[in-house]
Amino acid sequence: MDYDKLAELLFPDTTDDPDRYETIYPPRQLPEGACVTRLGPSPTGFIHLGNLFSAFADERLAHQTGGTFFLRIEDTDDKRYVEGAVETVIRSLDYFGIQFDEGASAEGDRGDYGPYHQSERAEIYHAYVKRMVRRGQAYPCFMSSEEIEAIRQEQEKNQENPGIYGKWAKSRDLSFEEIEQKIQAGEPYVIRLKSDGAVDTEPSEMRQIHVQDAIRGEITMPENNMDVVVLKATGIPTYHFAHVVDDHLMRTTHVIRGEEWLSSLPIHVELFEKMGWELPVYCHTAHLMKIDENGTKRKLSKRKDPELSLDYYRSDGYHPAAVREYLLMLLNSNFEEWRIANPDAGEEEFAFQIEKMSNSGALFDMTKLNDVCKDVLVKIPAAELVEFVKNWAREFRPEILPLFEGHEDYVAKILDLGRSGNKPRKDLISAPQIFEFIRYFFDDYFEIEDEMPERVTAEDGAAILAAYLETYEHSDGQDVWFEKIRVIADQFGYARKPKDFKKHPEDYKGHVGDVSTVIRMAVTGRSQSPDIWEIQQILGEERTKNRIREFEASLQRA
Ligand code: GLU
Repeated sequence: MDYDKLAELLFPDTTDDPDRYETIYPPRQLPEGACVTRLGPSPTGFIHLGNLFSAFADERLAHQTGGTFFLRIEDTDDKRYVEGAVETVIRSLDYFGIQFDEGASAEGDRGDYGPYHQSERAEIYHAYVKRMVRRGQAYPCFMSSEEIEAIRQEQEKNQENPGIYGKWAKSRDLSFEEIEQKIQAGEPYVIRLKSDGAVDTEPSEMRQIHVQDAIRGEITMPENNMDVVVLKATGIPTYHFAHVVDDHLMRTTHVIRGEEWLSSLPIHVELFEKMGWELPVYCHTAHLMKIDENGTKRKLSKRKDPELSLDYYRSDGYHPAAVREYLLMLLNSNFEEWRIANPDAGEEEFAFQIEKMSNSGALFDMTKLNDVCKDVLVKIPAAELVEFVKNWAREFRPEILPLFEGHEDYVAKILDLGRSGNKPRKDLISAPQIFEFIRYFFDDYFEIEDEMPERVTAEDGAAILAAYLETYEHSDGQDVWFEKIRVIADQFGYARKPKDFKKHPEDYKGHVGDVSTVIRMAVTGRSQSPDIWEIQQILGEERTKNRIREFEASLQRA
């Protein structure tokens, strides 16, 4: 076979000199040890936690080493391209503070190694496929999908490996004339790799490939022997081919991708070998797992787990800093220890190590995330949290926006309740939870939610509130204020101190705690809350007194 002639027949308009791309995209001028990483999402409109997880590792690795992190849109699959998907990817990742140095962006491509949309790189892919054909490393295959299906069934029946290889690769043996005829007759075809892998050999006897995976260590697998498709009938490359060409020309040093790609690694190794290029460092991350309702550990699933979607965290008002902190814990098991030693350090000071990533599947747990949120939010200044909740409300609960807008100082005081001192309260988790938590500060959302303490009758409750109102001085300091409550307790047969009640329960109706709970109920509608005195100071004299009066009246009616 005259491969030069075949290459011309298949690609008459394509350049014969792919090596010119080596000059157009020269090795990057970066400091020694700098890593070049990329995120290659497919623009299906769904961006998930796994993408963010990888993006985080990519970003840390690149930026920690003075390298480059870029965004490449992998729009080669036949799945329908979702309008605006690129913007969704960028916006979602931006929310979590992931920023690219180069690549696709909302304003178009930026950087010297583009185009960064695979759909715009046809010319480049064709040049390399043409060279493969010329070298006898690739060939056109005219098999129809029916033929391929029939092969699959036969292989299944004979318990043979599925795929096109060896004797099944029928188009390998076509003569130039046959190929020419088929093309003239308009028969569709794909281009397949002509694999050099051994066929009809037991996997254990096949040549083994050895790849140093930065997460998994040395990976040993039988070499590839499949004539995989490199160029589809539409002229668009497959993932395998685009990955090899792009990551070479874009000078990617580290390919961080999901473990679902591990099984195709031998294909990529053969392609890199055929091209004469060096392999990047592969880093195959493990799937994010969860323990489901039945106690079973399983992969997070798009269908079953809303928390897999990144949009979930935005719409459910999770603060990006908290999600980042949690993801870092999942990325590197030593992060938590580091955090304890460095409670106030910026997370970028943590030395992320790719080799410390789990190869068995990090466990994602919403309860743990909520705990992390509490730890992270307690350190965020109240004014900043107000802005965060406001922005969330604007998009997801516009009807409560007026409570925040123009009342920023009021809300900031509320959020700061109990947050100073060396044992600050850690009550705040997410925007909707924050709103629920502080709702009683807004008259329209204030209601009596809890039950009166068991040891206080409605009648006593009303009397306690009447006495409280009578001696109420808004300007009282906290100590004076509490002393007055002790006096009221005494007056109505409640112990001044809980421990007195514990010693002699028969002497009392209850203790001072029951009395203050009645006041707390009146002021907040709840039996538990931060410090009542502080709450009253924020609510102001009039609102406080009104609430006491109203609850007193309702107890009288009861
Ligand atoms: N487009 C591929 C995906 O979304 C990217 C895999 C890779 O990072 O190489 O799974």
